[in-house]
Amino acid sequence: MSKVVIMTKKKVIIIGGGIAGLCAGSYLQINGYDTEIFEMHDKSGGCCTSWTRKGYTFDGCIHFLYGTGESNAFYPLWKELIDIQGMEIVDFKEYSQIVKDGTILTLFADTEKLKRELLRIAPEDSVIIEEFINAIQEFDKIDMPIDVAPETLGMVELLKLLKDMKPYLNLQKKWNISVRDFVNKLTNPFLKEVLPASFEGEEMSLIAMITSFSAMNLKSAGYPIGGSLEFARKIEERYISLGGKLHFKQNVTQIIIDKNSAKGIILENGDEHHADIIISAADGYNTIFEMLEGKYIDKKIANYYKSLNLFRSLVQVSLGINRTFDNTPHSYSLFIDEPIIFEDNNKIERLELMIYNFDPTLAPAGKTTVTVSIETHNDEYWSNLRNEDRERYRAEKKKIAEEVIDRLDKFFGNIKSKVEVIDVATPATYIRYTNNWKGRYMGWMLTPKGLVTRMKKTLPGLKNFYLISQWATVGGGVPVGIMSGRNITQVICKKDKRKFVTS
Ligand SMILES: Cc1cc2nc3c(=O)[nH]c(=O)nc-3n(C[C@H](O)[C@H](O)[C@H](O)COP(=O)(O)OP(=O)(O)OC[C@H]3O[C@@H](n4cnc5c(N)ncnc54)[C@H](O)[C@@H]3O)c2cc1C
Repeated sequence: MSKVVIMTKKKVIIIGGGIAGLCAGSYLQINGYDTEIFEMHDKSGGCCTSWTRKGYTFDGCIHFLYGTGESNAFYPLWKELIDIQGMEIVDFKEYSQIVKDGTILTLFADTEKLKRELLRIAPEDSVIIEEFINAIQEFDKIDMPIDVAPETLGMVELLKLLKDMKPYLNLQKKWNISVRDFVNKLTNPFLKEVLPASFEGEEMSLIAMITSFSAMNLKSAGYPIGGSLEFARKIEERYISLGGKLHFKQNVTQIIIDKNSAKGIILENGDEHHADIIISAADGYNTIFEMLEGKYIDKKIANYYKSLNLFRSLVQVSLGINRTFDNTPHSYSLFIDEPIIFEDNNKIERLELMIYNFDPTLAPAGKTTVTVSIETHNDEYWSNLRNEDRERYRAEKKKIAEEVIDRLDKFFGNIKSKVEVIDVATPATYIRYTNNWKGRYMGWMLTPKGLVTRMKKTLPGLKNFYLISQWATVGGGVPVGIMSGRNITQVICKKDKRKFVTS
């Protein structure tokens, strides 16, 4: 008589239903694991979200998404989980338009146009502009090998990977300088001033700027019509269709440990759930220092949370405006003549605008959704204000919105009387809805040091546990979610001696 062997599926609990959690869940389901996601919010998506007020949908995330076009390494990954090829994607003509003291600089997506535009503004900097444009064109030719988790490679395979990455590494060696160091090479005062501000700060690595321009030039970094939440929902649908289980309003407070091995989770309501493997796709600080009580760290991890640069947080003013914005760029970096004072004594001198005139699904016909982002390091101010004086918190949000509307009215005209809906999110909002440390919605900043920092997805001394959210990879972003979810599945499959599959 032949023996019947019943294979029980390994159970995996995933904390957090953002992009990383949903993607990890999907790949694990495909590979024969039994997964459950516990999400504290009432919907999935995490930072990749949008919200609707009186007929207007405000997008809180994607400005552009790597991998919407075939030439980007993320495209085949998206294709594995969602019908990216069937989605309606907008490829923008420009990264954004910078306006300061009447001078306009359009950062065109098309590299040749960008070159002409930069040379028009700063002919005296032609040598460095040419070099910068060449770098974008060199990046156009590079295919980044992101389909294999480096953690799964042996020495020989790692050496091969490094060889395949040589063209990229050579460019990285030359261009992994801060935006500050780059603009210091320029002589044109306008470029020197506006470029760092328009690229998330002068500490950023120039590589981020170059790769963004390259991906936009290749029509591989577009916007999915319908917005960020719709995009996240497509991954959620795939996860559910693969048999994954998603539990909402389930705040995880503790990870159960037995003999230095993760065994389960405890929810805020006291319920316990057990599994063979625990993955946190939630905030890194909350996971390491609260759910795990800081018991599984080393000097390196402690230093990340002490001294590695973070992206800023945001105050986002979202407006539903009863008018169209025809023939205007979709994105502006607008330096304002009359600064706005906020957070007691900080000055806002620049507004970053998204005009969603390219997505008719986000507003009723003839109307437009506009969002204005204001960067801040001052997350504590907003959290304290909200906790201690809710009325002043609301008044402060109202004041910023009014001043923003006033500056937009001065710039565009015909705004003030047309605003139908106002919504203001602050760092306190990002913390409340996503639990991200200090409200930093992209995690670790891609500085020159950050770019070469390789974080582990395991913690020292702890078995059967992985951390995969944007806090486990410097640079953040939606594509990091799919890459880390896929990579961790490869790692788990290798450990279990299974062949990793994608369908
Ligand atoms: C304004 C803005 C603009 C952006 N622009 C872009 C862009 O143009 N392109 C781009 O690629 N990216 C952009 N991003 C960044 C991108 O949204 C994030 O980097 C990415 O979505 C992070 O995904 P994640 O899954 O790693 O983390 P998160 O989205 O933070 O997901 C973590 C999930 O875990 C849940 N969670 C946390 N703690 C717990 C707990 N204790 N118990 C249960 N659940 C928990 C949270 O609710 C959340 O759903 C932008 C973000 C913002 C806010």
